[in-house]
Amino acid sequence: MSDLFRAPKGTFDLLPPDSELWLYVREVMAAPLRRAGYGYVETPIFEETALFERGVGESTDVVSKEMYSFVTRGDDHVTLRPEGTAGVVRAAVQHRLYAGQLPAKLWYSGSFFRYERPQAGRYRHFSQVGAEAIGVDDPALDAEVVALGAQAYADLGLTQVRLLLNSLGDRECRPVYRERLQEFLRGLDLDAETRRRVEVNPLRVLDDKRAEVQKQVADAPVVGDSLCDDCRAHYDAVRTHLTDLGVVWEEAPRLVRGLDYYTRTTFEFQHDGLGAQSAVGGGGRYDGLSEDIGGPAMPGVGWALGVDRTILALRAEEVAPPAPPRCDVYAVPLGAEAKRRLLQLVDALRREGVSADLAFGDRGLKGAMKGADRSGARLAVVLGERDLEAGEAQLKDLGSGEQVAVPLEEIVTVIKEKLS
Ligand code: AMP
Repeated sequence: MSDLFRAPKGTFDLLPPDSELWLYVREVMAAPLRRAGYGYVETPIFEETALFERGVGESTDVVSKEMYSFVTRGDDHVTLRPEGTAGVVRAAVQHRLYAGQLPAKLWYSGSFFRYERPQAGRYRHFSQVGAEAIGVDDPALDAEVVALGAQAYADLGLTQVRLLLNSLGDRECRPVYRERLQEFLRGLDLDAETRRRVEVNPLRVLDDKRAEVQKQVADAPVVGDSLCDDCRAHYDAVRTHLTDLGVVWEEAPRLVRGLDYYTRTTFEFQHDGLGAQSAVGGGGRYDGLSEDIGGPAMPGVGWALGVDRTILALRAEEVAPPAPPRCDVYAVPLGAEAKRRLLQLVDALRREGVSADLAFGDRGLKGAMKGADRSGARLAVVLGERDLEAGEAQLKDLGSGEQVAVPLEEIVTVIKEKLS
């Protein structure tokens, strides 16, 4: 047994009935977006490696440590996507969405890959639903995007998701802050690697989870004190709109995110029931990303919600998932001729919108009835040789045990009546 193939480390298989929950969460997350005019976008699961290096940022952990990168047989350098925004913005540039109706509102759902140290809530293959609103710099759009994320969690029945909000400034004021922060960080007692990080990506040091670092950066200058007038006005407007929309948030002046492209509005959805991996979703504005990857100036704002962690949150809050769809009718054929007839009956029922299944494999009456019980069906149709001769089938109510003979030509109608 030990040499059996297993799902690779940090990945897991989704099987029924649990898999139903993943579909459900994706649907609930997408529903508010679809109502708000976001169209579905699908981009390749791999992109040129340089896209992520330039878009997400070479000094980020995601790019420097976590990417699944490889060289193809044709010598192309490609990477399994570690996040969705860079690919979507690449597509928006490639297809000149900036020349059409703006904002271009897009949503996606799919698999993402990061070579991380696996632990609860942190996987190497994970699933996100994302939203991007591209081409317009309007704080009302930031507020819409944030509110749609909050709506998704509310619609899922989660009550313990907190929204953390910050502004990271823009290309005018962030460099000023960066320098102030660097000056502060250079005065601290940090290990060599962290000191290197101070020079390359000082904002990330604020995000260091180690207690000895956290203690030292407690008095670090916050980006909010360095915002330029435009960024401050933008942030004020976002907050006003969020208040108007009844969205509750917490100011998080130290919130920085793991991806370099964020400017101005930045936010994270957190859940306290998840231990170390508390972020269930996050996003922000990325006004310079298009130019970073060689496109025209094209502002944007978006988020990605983690499906897997959201499911952990649902479990932590003990929110009962909806019951998976079950089979209504289970057909039990006894003999080859009965199987021909019942396969047709099951097909006819499904065409009428009734979920139906059949006992495949010749299991005999007892085994097939066990299958009927396991299926959770309300009705079983049993067809034996004698029934065939009489032109009828036995319709059994699996709840009450009551059984009636029904003429074969009437069976679809009778079943539909019983189920209605
Ligand atoms: P990020 O792209 O890092 O902002 O991540 C957005 C969301 O995706 C996070 O809040 C998580 O819910 C989810 N996520 C990111 N990385 C992972 C991972 N390695 N495993 C599971 N979920 C993840």
